[in-house]
Amino acid sequence: MRLTATLPLIVGLCLMAATAAGCGDKPSAGGQDSPANIAGSTDHPTGANQDKTPSDPPPASGSSPSQPSSHPSSPITPSAQAPDKSGASNNSNTSTPDNEYAVNDNAEHVVAHPDSVAVLVNKQFMLPQTYKPDDLVYPDVPFTYKEKIEKRMMRKVAAEALAKLFAGAKKDGVNLAGVSAYRSYATQTSVFNNYVKKDGKEKAMTYSAVPGHSEHETGLAIDVAGSDGKCAIEDCFAGTKEANWLAKHAAEYGFILRYPKGKEAITGYQYEPWHIRYVGTDISKAIADKGITLEEYYHAIPVTKTH
Ligand SMILES: [Zn+2]
Repeated sequence: MRLTATLPLIVGLCLMAATAAGCGDKPSAGGQDSPANIAGSTDHPTGANQDKTPSDPPPASGSSPSQPSSHPSSPITPSAQAPDKSGASNNSNTSTPDNEYAVNDNAEHVVAHPDSVAVLVNKQFMLPQTYKPDDLVYPDVPFTYKEKIEKRMMRKVAAEALAKLFAGAKKDGVNLAGVSAYRSYATQTSVFNNYVKKDGKEKAMTYSAVPGHSEHETGLAIDVAGSDGKCAIEDCFAGTKEANWLAKHAAEYGFILRYPKGKEAITGYQYEPWHIRYVGTDISKAIADKGITLEEYYHAIPVTKTH
């Protein structure tokens, strides 16, 4: 059975995963996503045991019927509707929030518009298994390694914005390097399965992403470090000049810090100062101005504390 539903007002995030070490990019003990680990790091979003969260609310109750005019199919009106249209060329076609989803046979919430740059992918909302962005390119920025491999890729619009962001940072004397960007469903599956073999599924889910739930699979997210690669995807990246620069300026280039400090219960992930996500400047600025998360932007809260 397939049915389309609107993003619920209340999303049941599992807080267990929010507090577990390594929910996001950084696995608990150790460096699976170090820069040297080129082949498909695990780092990401665990999605741990969220698919079947019993508290998942019934769809559509109370959601707003109004919608952005350019997206007639979208059932959601975001809380912060991009008021600033000064950058007319800036993704006006693609940054429209659009978070319809379908419930598949496994009761998973599969996003209906995975190509939207504003798509919400988290522990509750997953990408279709077959989704692969069709506009992946290699961003013209330095990485912490030389190889041109999958995890160096991003969707074109995000890659271009990233190049501008890196250039802006450089002007301010901050030299950044990419660490890990796109990850295919297949890669995520392989990585995840290896951990399941090693530690069993339950444990693996505490530090590795369930395939489909990693924001890296959108091609819109990237983990960033300083050009020296120190503290890449490590807690010690927090407070570095690179992290501070990203926190202050990423929104100017259409990126948000996806897993901010103090929002763990909302995003489901620990603080990740290195993980930035492209959403377009309208949304990034609205989110930064309000100090909120993408979940809050879509009213995908409050979080129910059950698991
Ligand atoms: Zn990441």
